[in-house]
Amino acid sequence: MLVVVSSPSGGGKGTLIRRVLKIVPDLGYSVSFTTRAPREGEEHGRHYFFVPVEKFREMASAGAFLEWAVVHGNLYGTAHAQVERELAEGHDIILEIDVQGADSVRRLVSDAVTVFILPPSFEILRERLTGRGSEEPDELTLRLMNARQEVAAYRRFDYVIINDDADRAAAQLASVIYAERARLVRQEEAAQCVLETFSQ
Ligand code: ADP
Ligand code: 5GP
Repeated sequence: MLVVVSSPSGGGKGTLIRRVLKIVPDLGYSVSFTTRAPREGEEHGRHYFFVPVEKFREMASAGAFLEWAVVHGNLYGTAHAQVERELAEGHDIILEIDVQGADSVRRLVSDAVTVFILPPSFEILRERLTGRGSEEPDELTLRLMNARQEVAAYRRFDYVIINDDADRAAAQLASVIYAERARLVRQEEAAQCVLETFSQ
């Protein structure tokens, strides 16, 4: 199962996903490729694969990406290889991607589960993004400006979680994943195995 998590920058995707990865078993994370510069503390291969624009373009031409998009002026993409590796290991996988990426995945993977994280208000988003201290003032302004369009996309998602209290919101994201795992279509095989034990 592919779980797409989107929000405006500073909405809390990273915070909630980190918590959920700790509590939900058999869940992987797709490390994206990006052309943006690493932030302090970000590691190549863990937070992103940081690549030059030419390399990214080459990969895109070679069909290496399930989806890619220009976000806040940089290129970001989900590699097929990342997703397939996790799925092959029997993991569900979280894609932390923007609303354009979510649109692409929705078109390509009809049973992908999509979740939009909304901050409680624009003012709180501004405070949290400013408090994170990871962007220069111009970049921060751009991200807050783009947030106004991004939040309007929430209706295209299967689930909407308001990130007021981080513990509560993370529990809700975990609940969505658990509930989606229990859907009849995803349980047919396991249920059949159980039923076989009844016919002996
Ligand atoms: P994103 O990954 O969507 O850009 P982050 O997870 O980095 O957002 O969150 C942005 C900032 O807001 C971070 O400094 C984070 O610690 C803080 N934050 C996230 N969720 C909450 C919350 N529920 N309450 C208070 N602060 C939060
Ligand atoms: P940041 O620079 O804050 O890490 O990410 C900026 C935006 O790019 C966020 O909305 C994030 O979800 C999005 N993003 C990260 N990786 C990908 C990706 O692989 N594809 C797409 N479409 N967006 C991504």
